[in-house]
Amino acid sequence: MKVLKWIGIVLLLALAGAYVLYLIYVRPFTQKMKETSTVQYDKELTIVLGGGGNSGILVSDSLVIVIDTKMGEAAEQLYKKVKELAGTKHILVINTHAHPDHTEGNKLYKGATIIAGGSYTKDFWKGEAGEDAMPTEWLKAKMDIQLGDDTVTVLNMAKNIHTASDIVVYLHKRKMLFAGDIILNKQCPVLMGIADPDAYMAAFDQLPKLFDIQKIVPGHGAIGGTEIIDSFRQYFTDMRAAAIDGTKKDELTAKYKDWGQIPVFMSPNATVSFIGNKIRNPQ
Ligand SMILES: [Zn+2]
Repeated sequence: MKVLKWIGIVLLLALAGAYVLYLIYVRPFTQKMKETSTVQYDKELTIVLGGGGNSGILVSDSLVIVIDTKMGEAAEQLYKKVKELAGTKHILVINTHAHPDHTEGNKLYKGATIIAGGSYTKDFWKGEAGEDAMPTEWLKAKMDIQLGDDTVTVLNMAKNIHTASDIVVYLHKRKMLFAGDIILNKQCPVLMGIADPDAYMAAFDQLPKLFDIQKIVPGHGAIGGTEIIDSFRQYFTDMRAAAIDGTKKDELTAKYKDWGQIPVFMSPNATVSFIGNKIRNPQ
């Protein structure tokens, strides 16, 4: 009986501890994640930051392109804005990847064309984002959309980076890249399953060669220039160094204490252990 009592006390303390950790670390972040801010970038382009992944609304004479549809209330607000701007024009949604913070709003866009990376299976998508967020078209490689004198390039990166089929969108006239979660601004990445830190590094080299990039809309965080790639690259370099040499871990992870993070699954420590596992168990 005495043992049972102690087990009960330990369990209660663990629960209380977990709740305090939730209050301190997780809740402020999830609250902040719900906040949105709108940037009227120019007459045709509206960028809505936060509320899940960052989104873009590009209005042309014939078509309205929406990049990522957010989650929860923010998804509904975004949809309202899109409908206002689109009127009777056709809506084309592009999902940068399957995660629900970028795709949950898909279900609102009845009758729209919804494009996602063609390297996913339908079952994977269903598991991640749900049946009602299912794309209508799967992009295997690359597509150029001509809008008057402007071109929008949609590119399936077609290898495991953040997920199995990350898409980037490049707006030629603005020299602007919507990078999805391949590039984040001052936020730690969620790395799970097939995510590949080496492929992130390769993408940081490859993207500026493919596109003349002046502006980046990251998957999360503020709009910036190519310095966002540099700081995100430095993050991966540092976390790799920490994974290889544990004595450097505290110093290197401390550099990123101000970045958006949730302990255990989206933090410098989580990245270090993910990279450490990949090094110890190469595929
Ligand atoms: Zn995301």
